[in-house]
Amino acid sequence: MIRTGIIRKIDELGRITIPSGICGSLGIVNGVSSIDVWLQDDMVALKRTEESNQNALYSRLIDRNGRYIIPKEIRVRLGLDYGVVIEFFLDEKTIFVKRSLPYCKLCYTTENLVRITSGDICKKCGSEAAKAL
Ligand SMILES: [Zn+2]
Repeated sequence: MIRTGIIRKIDELGRITIPSGICGSLGIVNGVSSIDVWLQDDMVALKRTEESNQNALYSRLIDRNGRYIIPKEIRVRLGLDYGVVIEFFLDEKTIFVKRSLPYCKLCYTTENLVRITSGDICKKCGSEAAKAL
């Protein structure tokens, strides 16, 4: 599974905006494509609708602006309320969305973080940056 580093928030209607680059690579067309959604571990799984997808809980259209409503049942299970920050991961044809953990802005690790003004960085990247100054 690939960490995209793309972060978004759940909007007031329980929607996420799927990044256009991800849509493009998966053949998802805004306002046209139907997307299957299901729960996988602590993640929301999304994939362009396929009849063979046994996992799908629901299939819904992505709207013209690339927004997609996460079913309430899934939002409640994962605590994905309005304003919660989520992150996109990719695995072949499936998009995974999970709550964003703090991570290094430079290398994306979630370990050994220190907080700086603009967010978090890991100690390794921090010491490399300090050497470069
Ligand atoms: Zn780092």
